Amino acid sequence: ELQFSSAVEAVMSYYPSVMRAIGGSEKIFEYVDRQPQVPPEGTLAPQNLEGHVEFKNVTFTYPTREDTPVLKGLSLELRPGQITALVGASGAGKSTCVSLLERFYLPQEGEILLDGQPLHSYKNQYLHDKISVVSQEPVLFARSVKENIKYGRDDATDEEMYRAAELANAHKFISDLPNGYDTDAGEKGGQVSGGQKQRIAIARALIRKPRILVLDDATSNLDTESEHLVHQALLKDSNPCSVLLIAHKLSTVEKANHIVVLEEGKVLEEGSHVELLEKGGTYADLVNKQNTGFQRSNPMTLLNLH
Ligand code: ADP
Ligand code: MG
Repeated sequence: ELQFSSAVEAVMSYYPSVMRAIGGSEKIFEYVDRQPQVPPEGTLAPQNLEGHVEFKNVTFTYPTREDTPVLKGLSLELRPGQITALVGASGAGKSTCVSLLERFYLPQEGEILLDGQPLHSYKNQYLHDKISVVSQEPVLFARSVKENIKYGRDDATDEEMYRAAELANAHKFISDLPNGYDTDAGEKGGQVSGGQKQRIAIARALIRKPRILVLDDATSNLDTESEHLVHQALLKDSNPCSVLLIAHKLSTVEKANHIVVLEEGKVLEEGSHVELLEKGGTYADLVNKQNTGFQRSNPMTLLNLH
């Protein structure tokens, strides 16, 4: 944004006729003023990070859609050794939370704290090292499985690679591939299924030893049992990270320590699976529908709050 506004300033000072031609300068100033002010990079890079994240009353509007806030006073906490799940209909604001956590944007109101310090007071590279995000459609290179996993950290040893693959519930299927870790993971090889790709992507994220792991619909191609195996393995690690688990499928999140139901950028209700069932609200309705209706036969039923 800084570069953009200085470019506009340059245009305005050197080309007044251009400014007149495009309708006067007020509009441009208005536009520049509305750009979010991302503060300069911070300086914090502590040796030890717990990975405790707090979103406090976060309100956020994308710069291009300023009349429609996407997050409206959202509070959310991620604790080390715990899985916090975020569920809600498409467009509810789940991935936006991830973009804010990665510091692509700054909230207009509220704050995001990491181990009690504002997120923006940390070095960018430090945040990049400590936060790993796996998305629904991971990109694998037309290289070996080994190179794809080690892409997460070039200097990782084979032992570290096996460990990451085990945590991602991937070691066994990789070992069973025709050439094991040397098997081509690219599209052309066609030897790796969608669910296997997702697990390779999770191993790639874990080899970096993040303190915060975000799985944004990252296990959508796994069956419920394999999903739960991955989740359990993550928490069995000796120094488990904070996990933010985003999912459409209700069965994905039922074992999470804490479930936050998001609707149009607001927290509708939260608690554990059991607490939310007892509460008898929206989450309970959806689970009941899945258990009684025709949806029972379809474990892939998508969560749709509307
Ligand atoms: P979810 O992940 O829950 O499906 P998102 O966080 O992706 O929802 O989107 C929330 C809302 O923000 C949607 O209305 C979406 O259209 C809008 N949105 C997402 N990304 C952008 C963007 N880069 N610019 C403008 N609007 C966006
Ligand atoms: Mg999303």
